Amino acid sequence: MAEGKRIIYFDHAATTKPLPEVGALYSEVINTYYANPSSVHQLGIDNSRLLDGARKEILQTLGMKDHQVIFTSGATESNNLALKGFMHRYKNRGKHIIVSSIEHPSVLNTINSLANEGFEVTIIPVDSNGKVSLPRIQKELKENTILVSIMAVNNEIGTIEPINDIATFFKAFPNIKLHVDAVQAVGKIDLPYNDIDLLTISMHKLGGLKGSGLLIKRKSIELTPIQDGGGHEYGYRSGTNDLGAAVVSNFVLKKALNDVTNKRIQVYDLAKPLYEYFSSQASEVVINSKIENPYIINISLLHKKASVFAEFLSTNGIMVSTHSACSSRVESGSPTLKAMGKNPVVCNNAIRISLSTTNTLEEVKRFIEVFDYGLKRLKG
Ligand code: PMP
Repeated sequence: MAEGKRIIYFDHAATTKPLPEVGALYSEVINTYYANPSSVHQLGIDNSRLLDGARKEILQTLGMKDHQVIFTSGATESNNLALKGFMHRYKNRGKHIIVSSIEHPSVLNTINSLANEGFEVTIIPVDSNGKVSLPRIQKELKENTILVSIMAVNNEIGTIEPINDIATFFKAFPNIKLHVDAVQAVGKIDLPYNDIDLLTISMHKLGGLKGSGLLIKRKSIELTPIQDGGGHEYGYRSGTNDLGAAVVSNFVLKKALNDVTNKRIQVYDLAKPLYEYFSSQASEVVINSKIENPYIINISLLHKKASVFAEFLSTNGIMVSTHSACSSRVESGSPTLKAMGKNPVVCNNAIRISLSTTNTLEEVKRFIEVFDYGLKRLKG
């Protein structure tokens, strides 16, 4: 990449730059508190206290009173552990699980594995905006349903799912547990954290470390671990702890949960001119998302290839995501847009622009300038 080139990073749903404090904090912890928190000597005991302190503060930050924090390698592992761990542990109570059709692959592919093992799976459809409906979930409940897994915010379109209503409803059904993949929601919308039984969080979407995540579960729920080992993390996730990652997770989560409303307003002010611009280009661009969640804007190009267009933007220093067709068949493309019932052109030519409070109006203006140039000059 050309030195000194101005980069406009609009790909925060893929990952974020670590917060400025993270490098030094991590370095301090791993260099000072290097002993194994499981060791019986004084250094080990001190580090174990630090680790448990981080767990406690994470629960306080989220207002979760009845839960336990399991440190994982990220949301992919958290989702695997939540779904497989729960279904394996309670298979004698029931074998039916309900998920939505727009879950992240780390949920949908885990569900496929469970279906192959003989579990009963219901994948409920979403509407044309990507919304899950509670009545539809209610309709699919069976005698042997033990788990429902619904994401809080979709990672491609940004749709906000009705987790408040869903969590409230399931309070009346103590035998059915609710898992929520909150990766794209934490720090962006308010969630009823304490009413969620199993909660997945990824730290690298919040200015934290890659390869670091959380599964927070209600204490009363047991899980069958995926890997056997020395019994760390309450026996659910063996392997020597990364104390640095735990301390950083606690730190970034506090920052993320601070001032959620003002941050959303700030990002809304960036998203608004983008929505206005895309609306003015209706013959070329379809908008797939809603400004209700200003962090993720998803559009499809009607007459241009998204992969070529994204490359053009990248050449001009602007980083966005596409969902490129995953096979040469025309029907492939974004699984979320497909699940929303969109046509193949829309599914295959989607571009995701994902913003954060670190972005500026100047960047938005420059984006519109470059995008407009591309729309007018690039060949289809
Ligand atoms: N769930 C959602 C909704 C996501 O957006 C992502 C990241 N793309 C994941 C799970 C997986 O997160 P990780 O990279 O921490 O495994």
